[in-house]
Amino acid sequence: MTKMMNTQVHIIGGGLAGSEAAWQLAQGGVRVRLSEMRGVEGTPAHHTDSLAELVCSNSFRSDDAQNNAVGLLHAEMRTMGSLIMEAADAHKVPAGSALAVDRDGFAAAVTERLAAHSNVEIVRERIDVLPASGLTIVATGPLTAAALAGSIGAATGAEALAFFDAIAPIVHRESIDMDVCWMASRWDKGDTKDYINCPMTRDQYLAFRQGLLDGDKTEFKEWERDTPYFEGCMPIEVAAERGEDTLRYGPMKPVGLDDPKTGRWPYAVVQLRQDNALGTLWNMVGFQTKLKHGEQVRLFRTIPGLENAEFARLGGLHRNTFINAPKLLDATLRLKSAPHIRFAGQITGCEGYVESAAIGLLAGRFAAAELAGETHAPPPFTTALGALLGHITGGADTTNYQPMNVNFGLFPPIEGRMKKASRRQLYTSRAKEALAEWMAAR
Ligand SMILES: Cc1cc2nc3c(=O)[nH]c(=O)nc-3n(C[C@H](O)[C@H](O)[C@H](O)COP(=O)(O)OP(=O)(O)OC[C@H]3O[C@@H](n4cnc5c(N)ncnc54)[C@H](O)[C@@H]3O)c2cc1C
Repeated sequence: MTKMMNTQVHIIGGGLAGSEAAWQLAQGGVRVRLSEMRGVEGTPAHHTDSLAELVCSNSFRSDDAQNNAVGLLHAEMRTMGSLIMEAADAHKVPAGSALAVDRDGFAAAVTERLAAHSNVEIVRERIDVLPASGLTIVATGPLTAAALAGSIGAATGAEALAFFDAIAPIVHRESIDMDVCWMASRWDKGDTKDYINCPMTRDQYLAFRQGLLDGDKTEFKEWERDTPYFEGCMPIEVAAERGEDTLRYGPMKPVGLDDPKTGRWPYAVVQLRQDNALGTLWNMVGFQTKLKHGEQVRLFRTIPGLENAEFARLGGLHRNTFINAPKLLDATLRLKSAPHIRFAGQITGCEGYVESAAIGLLAGRFAAAELAGETHAPPPFTTALGALLGHITGGADTTNYQPMNVNFGLFPPIEGRMKKASRRQLYTSRAKEALAEWMAAR
């Protein structure tokens, strides 16, 4: 205990993740210096100086812990004494089965609770360089200030730090119709049949291209326009605009792909590549897009074999600073090359308020345990916390790592034929038991 009281953890960034990490440490008896630049300098998306400001929607999404992965994550965080969940519950506004909050009341509550905690010192300062020593948690989020991003790039290798996400939709494997699709290598090169292929006729392709051109899109924000994204991740609708055949010579190229049903190459194909080690999630290769979400679901379900597709994530393109976490971090979120530094929140490649706070919670607990000379076992993969952490620290594909919300596709699969609702309930009941056992063992 004496050792802990004489030691401090430096948290950089007082958003969702940094605030939760600070709370977990402080409650564990560890002193925290929480450096937050707002108050000295703003970001393009925040409007206030409050900690844990919600930059856009006021929703924490579904609060249904029986049937929904993010609802389950809420429940697990409440069990672990989350400040973010405490403040959200205290400032809840009516939103059906979703948990939505009064954003000002919520952020004020988080700020006040941390400011009043005797173990927390909040310092309004911008940090430009990763500290060379001392336990540190970097939780500077999707809009990490430029100088620090440069320092992170220098420590991780520039190619492991992204400034834009280019998100292709991700589909749950079990919702793909394999009577229509087939496995083959990319453009039939090589021996391994690693890609799922969805065949299209000429009419289907032309209608699909037209759908891309006509579909409603979201605009880039003013401050996103200066950040280049186009290296290899042009939105699919921009490629479609370039000409009738551009997609057929690009991501939808059918060359070499004999459809086993016809023995011929289709006119075009949509290819999906495995996205997680479990093989439950598959991403639509080259389909990063600014189409609105509703439009994506409607249009992508016209692709043969994807008529009943369930999307774990829809496509997008945003300014977003994040590291290639599965490559760079160990199982307790430490930078392998500089283990005094942990990362937490959206900068690790999780996506969303709740997920960011959840990873902050774990980072805080891991750091507290490390200071006490203990090992904090990560939560089991069958819990929402463990599934999300597992994705970030090893489960995801490192060659094209992109941000991800929590979803049941990150959980070890429960096999067998059953209704979707029954499967979800099995996931959540298994998670509750696993979390209880894990907490009892600590
Ligand atoms: C425009 C936009 C809209 C979004 N909309 C939603 C949404 O509707 N729903 C949703 O769930 N998620 C949304 N997100 C994602 C959202 O940002 C994250 O889910 C969440 O805020 C990330 O939490 P975080 O703690 O990682 O980062 P943040 O909450 O952004 O906190 C990071 C903090 O670090 C500070 N900081 C940055 N650099 C430095 C530095 N060098 N020194 C000191 N402090 C620094 C920042 O000021 C900030 O307070 C949105 C993101 C953006 C950019």
